[in-house]
Amino acid sequence: MEQKNKKNNVKACEVFGKCGGCQFLEMPYEKQLKKKKQRLAELLKPYCDVDTFIGMECPKYYRHKVTATFSRDRKGNIISGTYKEGTHYVVPVENCLLENQKADAIMKTIRNLLKSFKIKIYDEDSGFGLLRHVQIRVGYATGQIMVVLVLASPIMPSKNNFVKALLKEHPEIRTVVVNVNDKRTSMILGEKEQVIYGPGYIEDVLCGMTFKISPKSFYQVNPIQTEKLYGKAIEYASFTGKETVLDAYCGTGTIGMIASKKAGNVIGVELNRDAVKDAVLNAKKNGISNIRFYQKDAGDFMVQVAESGDKVDVVIMDPPRSGSSEKFLEALSVLSPGKVVYVSCNPETMVRDIEKLTKKGYRVKKACGVDMFPNTVEIEAVCLLSK
Ligand code: SAH
Repeated sequence: MEQKNKKNNVKACEVFGKCGGCQFLEMPYEKQLKKKKQRLAELLKPYCDVDTFIGMECPKYYRHKVTATFSRDRKGNIISGTYKEGTHYVVPVENCLLENQKADAIMKTIRNLLKSFKIKIYDEDSGFGLLRHVQIRVGYATGQIMVVLVLASPIMPSKNNFVKALLKEHPEIRTVVVNVNDKRTSMILGEKEQVIYGPGYIEDVLCGMTFKISPKSFYQVNPIQTEKLYGKAIEYASFTGKETVLDAYCGTGTIGMIASKKAGNVIGVELNRDAVKDAVLNAKKNGISNIRFYQKDAGDFMVQVAESGDKVDVVIMDPPRSGSSEKFLEALSVLSPGKVVYVSCNPETMVRDIEKLTKKGYRVKKACGVDMFPNTVEIEAVCLLSK
């Protein structure tokens, strides 16, 4: 059975072993979950046991955000795909087992249109050419689609006709945005943006709430699992209805807004300007009045809150892969909330941060994993700490 599964999966992906994206593709899904739970348990061994590692029913096509880099192969054909790990060599990806299939179909249409519109592919070595990357986001509940064309310069020839041709094939596209990235960088998106079709954003529904998502705002890529992840974070916080909650690294305000229904009031802090703008609008759209958002470095904000003497009962933190900062953790222990719910997409940095918090009197009470990234080695975890 295992052998069959191995064969089936590998055959299903033409670039297995080349793109480096699906390290666990050969492994039956149950075994993947077991392995991830073991790894998390190993990391958390000094602190607590791991309750569960929540998997997906169908661990395929779950990525609702798809980014492709455009290039040419040796024969000069236009290709799009991902960088081979650790290199700038583009592995062509046409049918990815992780990516939303509609997004992959739109990528294909774009590859075909480029030729007829004579749009040049950007060449990283020479710096010539126009199209660098395409990023597509598909709303899970709404089906709304956003296409972001990342260009090396702001002028796109016959952009209106290009959009028209794209929409003819995919009328479900809700908005098309040009993002200008004129820097020699491995970052995908640049600063400047121009909306060339539609409202410039899409909306999605998670845990019964509507969220506006702009091109530069963070939004979890696996919506099915995100509901389970947020559910666990809220469960661990076990609100009574009176708490003051701080949602740190809040993105578009998702976790905080869900918490606002069960707690007294919520403060969200996030560095990305666009995400904070989305968060403010999201709260309004969902009729939530007991939440406020601040655009600031979470560490600086934490110091400010700790110095103000205000009381916070629960801190929910969901930092990026690099984890939290010394400044944040120091101020957190001064603020001394009764509960800290740590949501992490990188348990290595989470454990590093937890170690510091345990030196300040916190104990890890519960931990679990949610498989946000099936078929890859990536682990998402939630921990509850309290004093
Ligand atoms: N909780 C959100 C976002 C988590 S991703 C969600 O589930 O959607 C981590 C977020 O941290 C990103 O939105 C990123 O922009 C933000 N971030 C990164 N560094 C930060 C910092 N120093 N201060 C505040 N926010 C930061």
